[in-house]
Amino acid sequence: MSSIKRREFVRKVVAATSMAALPASTFANIIIPQKRRLGVALVGLGYYSTDLLAPALQLTQNCELRGIVTGSPSKIPIWQSKYGIKDQNIYNYQNMDELANNDEIDVVYIVLPNSMHAEYSIMAANAGKHVWCEKPMAKTVAECQSIIDACQKNKRYLSIGYRMQHEPNTQRIIKWAETKPYGAIQSLSAEAGFYNGSTDHWKLRKEMGGGAMYDMGVYSLNAARYVTGEEPIAVTAEHSTTRPEIYDEVDETTTFKLEFPSGAVANCKTSFGANLNDLKVNCENGWYGLSPFQAYNGIKGTTSDGIKLNTPIENEQAKQMDDDALAIINKSEVIVPGEEGLRDIRVVEAIFQSAKTGHRIII
Ligand code: NAD
Repeated sequence: MSSIKRREFVRKVVAATSMAALPASTFANIIIPQKRRLGVALVGLGYYSTDLLAPALQLTQNCELRGIVTGSPSKIPIWQSKYGIKDQNIYNYQNMDELANNDEIDVVYIVLPNSMHAEYSIMAANAGKHVWCEKPMAKTVAECQSIIDACQKNKRYLSIGYRMQHEPNTQRIIKWAETKPYGAIQSLSAEAGFYNGSTDHWKLRKEMGGGAMYDMGVYSLNAARYVTGEEPIAVTAEHSTTRPEIYDEVDETTTFKLEFPSGAVANCKTSFGANLNDLKVNCENGWYGLSPFQAYNGIKGTTSDGIKLNTPIENEQAKQMDDDALAIINKSEVIVPGEEGLRDIRVVEAIFQSAKTGHRIII
């Protein structure tokens, strides 16, 4: 039975029990949730919501898809028939503030172009909803701070959609930042990119927060930060392009070097012109790496002494959303808070400044 059908079946069985006693065997393979699942509304029904998040929300245990916010009326019947979303849980960008009156929605997940993250995250927080915001958190540090402030003012949780920090193999090397099983980290390389064949998309527009650095470069940057457990103190960066007719506003390729207080150096690259997905960490007494390190599945790697880093995970997005929902339910800390998104954007601002001026920028 597909997970969607299974969830519908579970609902029906649970409803039926209030009317008639069923034999215990009926429930043999059904896990009835102990806690109330949180209701999630997705804002922006583009690629990531459609292909990854909505399907993942059919696998989650602690939250479920209950609402949508869209500017495209033609998508509504498709999403309703696929996911059974109620009429009263459907909003557009103009009436999204009315979510304040909807108790079925606990969390609003912002999956919009990067330039819109701040405005809609703040709107969601002001409507009294917890906020999950996609990476990159926003275009500027000031915007990131305004999201954090709005969530704090409304006493709402805020998580940034850095799914890798929820993934078990990544979590293992994040721990090594503290335990240092191979000694001090001396250098690392982190490369994240894909060949983007688009010629007309918001990811090519500067005002929308387009470009490789915001889109994929934050994976390299975030990895450099979580692998070392340190904040960079200086950055040197350069942009380049092989398709200047397309990349006339935003970066196609950015290379950047980060210097950390311990002396570790990260050589990073991001591109919309090449498929890149590799993380390698060189230490005093060995090395380790993940390749791929930011794919949707199959994160795997190894170490200099042959340890396999290949713990499987059913679905990264489901794990991320379940972790974030559980933090809200248990009133515990989230894995990737707003401050984590802001720290990346602080470095991104320095990267852009370095690429523009040709100078090494002290952060
Ligand atoms: P997309 O272009 O496919 O979807 C964007 C959605 O926003 C569309 O539904 C579009 O209709 C809507 N939209 C509303 N106003 C718009 C406007 N003025 N201009 C353009 N679109 C507008 O983009 P996507 O790939 O789904 O990315 C959305 C967000 O998700 C981005 O922040 C991106 O970085 C993030 N993302 C994260 C991951 C991840 O692995 N965590 C993967 C992909 C995308």
